[in-house]
Amino acid sequence: MESEVKIGLECHAQLLTRSKLFCPCSTDYHNAEPNTHVCAVCLGLPGALPTVNEQAIRYGIKVALALGCEVQPEIIFYRKNYYYPDLPRGFQITQYDFPIAFNGLVRIESDGEEREIRIRRVHIEEDPGRLVYKGTIDTAKYALVDYNRSGIPLVEIVTEPDLRSPKEARIFLNKLRSILEYLGVFNGDLEGAMRVDANISVAGGERAEVKNISSYKGVERALSFEITRQKNLLRRGLKVKQETRHYDEVRGITISMRTKEFEEDYRYFPEPDLVPIRIAESVLDLKAEIPELPDEKRKRFITQYSITPEHATALTSDKHVADFYEAVASRIDPKLSATWIADVLKGELNYRSITMREAIKRLSPDDFVAILRYLKQGIITERGATVLIREMLDRGGKPDEIIKRKKLATISPTEIDVAIDAVIKANKNAVADYLAGKNEALNFLVGQVMKYTRGRAEPKEVRIKLVDKIQAYDLRSDAQ
Ligand SMILES: [Zn+2]
Repeated sequence: MESEVKIGLECHAQLLTRSKLFCPCSTDYHNAEPNTHVCAVCLGLPGALPTVNEQAIRYGIKVALALGCEVQPEIIFYRKNYYYPDLPRGFQITQYDFPIAFNGLVRIESDGEEREIRIRRVHIEEDPGRLVYKGTIDTAKYALVDYNRSGIPLVEIVTEPDLRSPKEARIFLNKLRSILEYLGVFNGDLEGAMRVDANISVAGGERAEVKNISSYKGVERALSFEITRQKNLLRRGLKVKQETRHYDEVRGITISMRTKEFEEDYRYFPEPDLVPIRIAESVLDLKAEIPELPDEKRKRFITQYSITPEHATALTSDKHVADFYEAVASRIDPKLSATWIADVLKGELNYRSITMREAIKRLSPDDFVAILRYLKQGIITERGATVLIREMLDRGGKPDEIIKRKKLATISPTEIDVAIDAVIKANKNAVADYLAGKNEALNFLVGQVMKYTRGRAEPKEVRIKLVDKIQAYDLRSDAQ
């Protein structure tokens, strides 16, 4: 089923330069009033001339190198002509025949299989302004335009149609985001920092392009919707038209916008106000600036810390998580650290929809080392450690203070014995059931002891003690 689906992505990622691509306006527009970060160049006023931001080019080359692309010796900016309210000049300055690079490769893991996704090209272009609709695109009476975003440098990364399912597309995007963040040229947490257009075709039909996918979750949803739509058409003997469709994030559907335009419609021609840029010599210097990327870091974690490949994947997908892990693992058992960061902490972050970057403000590596140390010393149980992590993420504070306040310290062996005796006495039927071979009765009894001790005992320990006590307990002597 899946292999008959072909998906190619055009990913536009905002580069973290301080000024825009062709003018000195600040790129720090995310919390600014609309149309306050603008000038004659990015408003497209007649006669305004562009100047290239060198940092944006360097970032673009770094991205190309990190994706294993062949960086080209000469890049030329082109005009892509089209009219739209978010593009006041009537053309977008982008690259065409002479982009920054061709032919790269990104490895992803999908259903336990390693897959190679080819990168067709990488180029730099300017972001248009942002259109804001009141309601949805097809019902809004008017649109508002904010040009703060106009001229922000974007790196566009185009894949070959190598992705086979919406899920793979999501995995690819996460990997791409991770690589860009490792490079320090991108911040995926910023609103609209990554926008994706997708080409989708189902065997037997034409290819449709879906534009305006602006969230990581949106990608999987938009593609699933589009695949179902195309399959339904083909099943009914209808044709899938070659067209451009708009993704409506609110409703989770794609809407037909126009029949697909072709390249010649854009009348590409070299931008006469910018000279071609030769980049050959600087490329070698930039190679030395490429940091350790997720795949290499993953390999190193497996050998250096003897952790499982699964943990290594989970710990290296986000650079901030990887840094946090190394700060903790250098001071306390690396395997225990891997389990508690990959399995527990990441789960708690997901549940709260917060990133490691935000979480670290409340829960530092020092705090985490302290929690694991208390756990290893038996001062708190695994459950207590989890409660501690949750409390720190939600409200902050210091581990020792929270242990006291929430009474998380483990109870003494004598107290556990008392609890088990009480539970056995109060649940004779369950004890009899367990002796008769019903194992689920034991789970029930463990649960009762945990309740009795308000979660301060270690369930594994309770289970062992409980079995010992029940076996020693002479049920018949109790019978009448
Ligand atoms: Zn400007």
